[in-house]
Amino acid sequence: YELKKGFFMSNNQQITISDEVKEFLKSNHKLLINGEWTPSSSNEKIEVFDPATEQLLTEVDSGNAADIDAAVAAARKALTGEWSKITSHDRARMLDRLADDIEANFSVLSEIEVLDNGMPLELAQYSIASHGTTLLRYFASWANKLHGQTIPVSPAGAINGESLTYTRKEPIGVVGAIIPWNSPLIFAILKLGPALAAGCTVVLMPAELTPVSALFLGHLIQKSGIPKGVVNIVTGYGETAGQALSEHPDVDKITFTGSTEVGKKIVEASIGNLKKVTLELGGKNPMVIFPDADLEKAIPGAARACFFLQGQNCMAGTRLFVHEDIYQVVLNGVKEIAEAFTVGHGLISGNDFGPLISKTQKERVMSYIDLGREEGAELLTGGDSFSDQGHFVQPTIFSNVDGEMRIAKEEIFGPVLCAQSFTHQDLEQIASEANDTPYGLSGSVWSQDISIAHKMAMLIDAGQVSINCHAAVDPAIPFGGNKQSGWGREFGAEGLEAYLKTKATTVIF
Ligand code: NAP
Ligand code: MG
Repeated sequence: YELKKGFFMSNNQQITISDEVKEFLKSNHKLLINGEWTPSSSNEKIEVFDPATEQLLTEVDSGNAADIDAAVAAARKALTGEWSKITSHDRARMLDRLADDIEANFSVLSEIEVLDNGMPLELAQYSIASHGTTLLRYFASWANKLHGQTIPVSPAGAINGESLTYTRKEPIGVVGAIIPWNSPLIFAILKLGPALAAGCTVVLMPAELTPVSALFLGHLIQKSGIPKGVVNIVTGYGETAGQALSEHPDVDKITFTGSTEVGKKIVEASIGNLKKVTLELGGKNPMVIFPDADLEKAIPGAARACFFLQGQNCMAGTRLFVHEDIYQVVLNGVKEIAEAFTVGHGLISGNDFGPLISKTQKERVMSYIDLGREEGAELLTGGDSFSDQGHFVQPTIFSNVDGEMRIAKEEIFGPVLCAQSFTHQDLEQIASEANDTPYGLSGSVWSQDISIAHKMAMLIDAGQVSINCHAAVDPAIPFGGNKQSGWGREFGAEGLEAYLKTKATTVIF
């Protein structure tokens, strides 16, 4: 290990890639359209790199508008075909089978995720086991519980109230799913699970930087019994394949996770046929620590909330508000944890802090760090990138941040924590500072006083607030953003509802 400014960078260690993953990376990847692996009509390829070594991992096809057309046509045909006749119990069984196959390929998928995204192996394993397969099984168990209602009414024309009204839940139709690079496999599953449970068909477009796990998933889908054309996977660029999918007149709904900027483009593109849109976008999430908080939990909790996935996480707790009485203690504690991370390749055991996804992302984060210095925030630790191979940036903490600084308002999507103290117990005042960004995705409150904790949770303008933890995620907990963090909710019953449409039928006897 080479000691660099207080951070350990594990250098010159050879990573070992399993034969199965090597073979998959070497294979000739194509697009999954109508159940067949089909070459892109563009004949162009996208190179995929390991962000920790900058070495070429593989190449995937660059799907274009014509490929999206073919995939949408296959999904449209499948919507009313065999898939629509399959019983809801069998739909559930197919999703469970897919979850079984993901479990059976757990180590291969975890390894792919580390190589493609850069996350530490333990995190990849944890997220696939605790979120991926659980999510799929959770939504599988909904497939046969999509009940409508009967409604006792007397519409005009019904004599003596002799009528019957009932509602049916129908699949919303052909779904275009566009996902980001920060947790590629989980996002693919998060879109496919509820869409398939609802009886929809899907065209999935993974992020250009991390398409590999979705392609592997495509092979498992082929074995799951899910009919051809129900799931189509088109790798490609957002500006071409993603844009074509969001504009497509025969797509009924887009489910998107990504930046607020692209989310707005998707809304514009959806106008042509007024397709339904759900958006999970960016965040700049506050953590508020009161003087009575259990610091044994709050300090590691805050460090994890910010630096998890190197801060490339929409729920990351990146703005830390701490009462002045405990400000120094909390900051020193978080700094100590940040400096103890072992930075390096995710496949090397013991490394718990990986690279950022790309050179562009590294430059973007470094420019925000420079901006923080210029804006007058105090750099407590970090602030550098590692110059060797890989897109590594040190876990960075700014203290004495002012709410008006750009680093306090804009989403950095990197390992940068912005801390400030408060002196009072005026909850509305604290909330107005905590809420002072265009975002409203996640937040956390740390206090042992149940009144303060719940009042503060009510005042934070976010789709999700956690008390004495940050970003509690479970398939059954609805998740999504207020303000410019998005439209709609994913996970839970509400997440499923977004893939259904209600039909009311009335008969007058
Ligand atoms: P991004 O640039 O918005 O990309 C997301 C996806 O959209 C990618 O697949 C991208 O394709 C595609 N895309 C790009 N331009 C498009 C267009 N014009 N039309 C249709 N699709 C297009 O976001 P990112 O940089 O990958 O991810 C980081 C952002 O995602 C952050 O802001 C983060 O907060 C947000 N995020 C939100 C959540 C949430 O649940 N709220 C979760 C994770 C991430 P390419 O890969 O080819 O660019
Ligand atoms: Mg991009």
